[in-house]
Amino acid sequence: MSDFQSTLPPGASVEPLPKPELWQQLQACWRDPTASPAQAAAYRGRQFHAVLMAMVTSGWANVFIVLALTVIFWGQASPMAFAVWIASVSLFAIFNAALAVSRRDLSAASPVSVRAVAWFSLEIAGAALAFSAMPWYLFTVVDSDGRTLLAAVLVSALLIGSWMIAYLPQAAIAWATVVSVGFAIVLANVNHAFFNLTAVLMLVLGFIAICAVLIASRIFLNGLKAETEIEHQKQWVGLLLNDFEAHATDWLWETDARGRLRHVAARLAQNLGVRAEDLQGRDFVSAVASLGTHLRHADQGMFTRLANHLAGIFPFRDVVVPALVRGELQWWSLTGKPLRDETGHLVGWRGVGSDITAQWQHETELVRLANHDSLTGLANRYKFGTVLGGYFGGSKTTSGQAGGSAAASAVMGAGPCTVFLFDLDNFKTLNDSLGHEAGDQLLIEVAQRLRGHVKGDDLLARLGGDEFAILVPGQLLAGDAMAFGAELQAALNQPWTVQGHRIVIKASIGVASAPAHASNADQLLRACDMALYAAKAAGRNVMHFFDPAMERRARDKLSVLNDLTDGLQRGEFVLHYQPLVELETGALAGFEALVRWQHPKRGLISPLEFIPIAEESGLIEPLGAWVLQQACLDAQLWPAHLSVAVNLSAAQFQSPDLLAVAKNALRQSGLAADRLELELTESVLFQDNTRAVQTLGSLRNLGIRIALDDFGTGYSSMAYLHSFALDKLKIDRSFIAALGAPDALGGQDSTAQSSAQAVVRAIIQLASALNLKTTAEGVETQSQFNLLADLGCLQAQGFYIAKPMPVAELPAYIARHDSNVGQANAADDLMPV
Ligand code: C2E
Ligand code: CA
Ligand code: CA
Repeated sequence: MSDFQSTLPPGASVEPLPKPELWQQLQACWRDPTASPAQAAAYRGRQFHAVLMAMVTSGWANVFIVLALTVIFWGQASPMAFAVWIASVSLFAIFNAALAVSRRDLSAASPVSVRAVAWFSLEIAGAALAFSAMPWYLFTVVDSDGRTLLAAVLVSALLIGSWMIAYLPQAAIAWATVVSVGFAIVLANVNHAFFNLTAVLMLVLGFIAICAVLIASRIFLNGLKAETEIEHQKQWVGLLLNDFEAHATDWLWETDARGRLRHVAARLAQNLGVRAEDLQGRDFVSAVASLGTHLRHADQGMFTRLANHLAGIFPFRDVVVPALVRGELQWWSLTGKPLRDETGHLVGWRGVGSDITAQWQHETELVRLANHDSLTGLANRYKFGTVLGGYFGGSKTTSGQAGGSAAASAVMGAGPCTVFLFDLDNFKTLNDSLGHEAGDQLLIEVAQRLRGHVKGDDLLARLGGDEFAILVPGQLLAGDAMAFGAELQAALNQPWTVQGHRIVIKASIGVASAPAHASNADQLLRACDMALYAAKAAGRNVMHFFDPAMERRARDKLSVLNDLTDGLQRGEFVLHYQPLVELETGALAGFEALVRWQHPKRGLISPLEFIPIAEESGLIEPLGAWVLQQACLDAQLWPAHLSVAVNLSAAQFQSPDLLAVAKNALRQSGLAADRLELELTESVLFQDNTRAVQTLGSLRNLGIRIALDDFGTGYSSMAYLHSFALDKLKIDRSFIAALGAPDALGGQDSTAQSSAQAVVRAIIQLASALNLKTTAEGVETQSQFNLLADLGCLQAQGFYIAKPMPVAELPAYIARHDSNVGQANAADDLMPV
């Protein structure tokens, strides 16, 4: 019996000889030619198993039939023959039953050898012979009724027997062949044509039975093959999944319809810090959320989103949730698909979870970079604009007013908000004098200080450079806005320490709100800009609210700009001259050229109004060149000891043409270079240090003198006075004004006076130590004049001496001055003009 369980003999794997096509087709009915020897043995096991299961029933059925026929035909043959018949059929039945029992505990696919199948087929042939031998004999001795019964029994045995063992076609064919051929021989031997024909019929029936067996067996084998294939795939997928869960950062999850975990990936359990078995049946969302309980409130919404997805019925992708795994923040992306039964009912969910921390952080960083200022960490202009735009999201400007006055535009549906726009006065000078690192450090600290003053939904942003903004949502009363602005200013006015320097900065603030001042984000920012501009113009460290007049002024500015070009072409600019005198002798030293615009409609316009616009627009270059040229031409007509001072803008100083322009002016006018003085402000010198040194050097090589204008107003650093080749410091008039109130008022604040005196004295001493001349600007009173003379200042300029005057008045002024000085000298009184 062990034969039936043995595997293939070793020789079975030898290459078979090529067989005819039909033979191969037939073979395919009982064996899979593509199967490996082990697989083929397993197939035989399955075939054998299927047949044996039917064998028990058919064995006892055979015994029953044999007993029944014995009773029916008792006396037609010897009792001995009947006894032998019954015994042999029973023996085969018992043997097959025993075979079935022996395989009961084995798996259906436990292998069976080719030889075992051959032996079994032989055994079935024997069983067929044992079963049919007696009917064959009886057929020759009984009457026609008996013959009919026997023929029916034999045909039934042929068909039913073949069918029952069809899955093992070798055995079935053995059965069918023995039963049909044996009976056909018996029929052929009967001396009657009817029976002889029946013999042929029997052979045909046998053949049909064999064909049916082959077809059934082939179907069975194909089923086996398909089953094996599926099993194979299942194992393969299982292997892949195990591998996937073992190596990838991803893991699988599966829940029942109520969201309770069914399949728990080892990785998920590991992340949750529990055993996979303990997770089984736990609510998926709460299990994942338990990893995120320590996280910020905002992130909790992500779990709600996941729960909502699971409550729905549609697949979802890339739902991101945070998870705190072993103290480390991770981001998981979950993808899931609903599982349904055949009737379409939801039976659960299945999906993949992946750790996308790196990618998430990268994306978050990109978003952060796009929305934040990298220096201060505050929101940047883009983010500010986006948020501000949100306040106008549903807004509509009433028709016809779009593009009109911002203040006049009525807005419907816009959320009210107020924007504070501020910039740090003199930040640029600090940046230039102490360096960018110091500037950056100051900006970081400014951001920090401002953070302490924004609350709730306020948005603090750095819009660029030294420009910051705060967006305050909701309607803000004017008084509250005022108080908030003052609070910010006070905060910024507290002294700062940057790289060991103690620094004081002031902030100008422009304020505008919607819907009062704007119907869209751009308009609101523009309104703030205008208010800020007005605040700066009003003297810095000032807060201004937007008002429609500002828009008008801005428009005026635009029209000034347009007119400026025309004015230059039409020669509408004129120079006025203000004298400079020697403090010791009162003698006239020269004049400063001050430009004015003789506007055809607006009259004489101050340089304070148009120079900044000319600087912004680049028109300052042609204008400045004209001033230089004209001043030289005018000065050429004066007595030779008088010099002319010309103001230079930063933009002019940066221009590579400056040297050529100056040379040209001197050449065309024939003025001696040492009679020309150029006035620069401190900011000019900081912009590009090395280039400034070069330009100054070239100008001085020509013989031109250089004066530093408005000295003391910037971040006057002693250090740079060394590095630049200068001839003169012009002490800013704010120091001179502090030297003494007009005489008429009599008493003044004596401490302020004495500290102003100390500053002026220090500047004069410093200048003399550096071998620089000094000119006091804005001298308005006699006491200032006398005091400056006492302090050792060399020159004075101001209304006390003379206001700037048109060029036509100069000859008379010069003549008068000379004679005055002559007289005064005689009287030892230095009172000019
Ligand atoms: P600045 O160079 O400081 O010129 C002196 C300014 O002070 C002049 O104003 C002058 O009228 C005024 N001033 C003189 N004495 C006194 C005084 O005793 N008291 C008071 N309160 N003011 C006095 P102005 O002519 O309006 O010029 C203003 C500024 O415009 C100038 O300041 C200068 O920076 C600029 N500017 C004038 N002309 C030119 C030019 O041709 N080119 C450039 N780039 N800037 C110019
Ligand atoms: Ca000047
Ligand atoms: Ca000045």
